[in-house]
Amino acid sequence: MKFDKGIMVSPGIAIGRAFIYSEDIISIPDYDISPGQVAYEFERFDSAVEKAAQEIIKLRDRISNEMGEKEQKFLESHLLMLKDPSFAEQINEQLRRQEKNTEQILLSVIENMTTKLNDTGNDYFRERIIDLHDISRRIMGHLMYQKKISLADLKEECILVAHNLLPSDVISMNKRMVIGIATDAGGKTSHVAILARSFEIPAVLGLSDITKFVQSGDEIIVDGNEGMVIVQPDKNTKKKYIGNKKAWQKHELQLLNLNELPAETRDGKLIQLEANIEVPEEIDSVLAHGADGIGLYRSEFLYILPGRFPSEEEQFEAYRYVLESMKPKSVTIRTLDLGGDKIIPGVKPGDETNPILGWRSVRFCLSRPDIFKSQLRALLRASVYGNLKIMFPMISGIEELNDILELLDESKNELDREGYSVNNDVPVGIMIEVPSAAFTSDILAKKVSFFSIGTNDLIQYMIAVDRENERIAYLYEPFHPGVLRLIKLVIDNAHGQGIPVGMCGEMAGDTNSAVILLGLGLDELSMSAIGIPEIKKIIRSVTIADAEDIVGSIMEMKSYREIDDYVKAWMEERFDFISY
Ligand code: PEP
Ligand code: MG
Repeated sequence: MKFDKGIMVSPGIAIGRAFIYSEDIISIPDYDISPGQVAYEFERFDSAVEKAAQEIIKLRDRISNEMGEKEQKFLESHLLMLKDPSFAEQINEQLRRQEKNTEQILLSVIENMTTKLNDTGNDYFRERIIDLHDISRRIMGHLMYQKKISLADLKEECILVAHNLLPSDVISMNKRMVIGIATDAGGKTSHVAILARSFEIPAVLGLSDITKFVQSGDEIIVDGNEGMVIVQPDKNTKKKYIGNKKAWQKHELQLLNLNELPAETRDGKLIQLEANIEVPEEIDSVLAHGADGIGLYRSEFLYILPGRFPSEEEQFEAYRYVLESMKPKSVTIRTLDLGGDKIIPGVKPGDETNPILGWRSVRFCLSRPDIFKSQLRALLRASVYGNLKIMFPMISGIEELNDILELLDESKNELDREGYSVNNDVPVGIMIEVPSAAFTSDILAKKVSFFSIGTNDLIQYMIAVDRENERIAYLYEPFHPGVLRLIKLVIDNAHGQGIPVGMCGEMAGDTNSAVILLGLGLDELSMSAIGIPEIKKIIRSVTIADAEDIVGSIMEMKSYREIDDYVKAWMEERFDFISY
């Protein structure tokens, strides 16, 4: 038996058999060839290109009815790149020169082409990098015809153990079969953690070396409430955890009794408690946990799940479904926030030293107006089917916002001309997750109807601490006085301009932060659906006067440790029901 402590990221207890998952199950082959084998290797390339082309043609034909002209052009351009004779020539030449297998040559040619496109300094050419990687992924898939073990194909219940997982792994895995997650890497606000909470899968991340101690088939326990993993538990330990699991489930059920009650403080301040979702399938859970609406729909998963850019029509259908299902409750859909760890499988946006600070989110969208406008059009078309709010992520300043609002207007006018009905009063808001936006929030507030503070990124950028990195997780501190002061500034600036301000980062669902956020003056909190009942119970147990009082005290303090200790003691004195 071995106990291992990590970062608790998703509550609940799972007891089951481990399944070790490694992204490297199939590594890209690397071997030397003789000059006599060049022709054979080139034939392999040629045949893989042909299969990739057939795949694109099939895709184009299958969805041609739903696709707009732009999406058609997008696929046509991939076909042209695939069949470009100079591409084949480069492969042939490098096969002869390097005498390596086709997979390695493909990697080196693509890398070379990427560098050249990057070096042009021309935006149009740089944007082609993403297309280049997309076609390369297709060719590689056909070259390595072995089938990768897919988490979507899991047939037996298991606890997923991995060094690290990508959001695309979690979104596409067979969620009915994964009852727990344990990984070496990862932090509390990583997207894998967020997804585990959304799908209500107990998870402990940041265990450092759990993969060294567990083998597929080992019995293990994942205790997401305590951040503990137990490998090969003895009889007594297992019995104790079976009891803990039952008690936890009972506690969860009791909290659901609050579903019909409002999140109202004892002195009558009503807080909007909403849910964050990644995929439309989460709506049942959102409603079951008594959410007042959806405060953050991370639309990028609509792109990550199928591994390609969806058509305007596909997006419209998804947005319409979510809006109709939640009606009359509001749904805040955030536009495409790709980048960082959220990548479309196999599509690398280009070589970047600092992807977290790089060509991502609205920066990517503004450089690909074709892709961005297909989303804006889909959102506007869906706006008449429910209570929609549109939210833009990663805004860093007013210029960016102006450019986005212009594209939104352009899309509205286009739809108007094409005869679509659109709700012209859709509230438009932005996320405050970049410090420069927070410091200029007085200026930005004049342009939008609401703010939502994205603490996951705001803290990352503010403290310069990677939210994914377990080694420096101790620095990722929501109660850092710098973070609290900045949040206060944003709230004051928003209220100064008469607009509401919410929070949709993970801090909004943290039981220790709830009273502080009330005292700071937030109007809305949006979190994983599973966290709503407990936060509601806290809100219903306090007054705004209590909350302002504790905020008054902590804003005088100098260190996060001091604040952490003070808040924990304050909470423990008043609440005995908090589970984690
Ligand atoms: C955030 O940054 O706080 C946020 C909600 O967005 P994401 O976690 O998707 O980056
Ligand atoms: Mg963010």
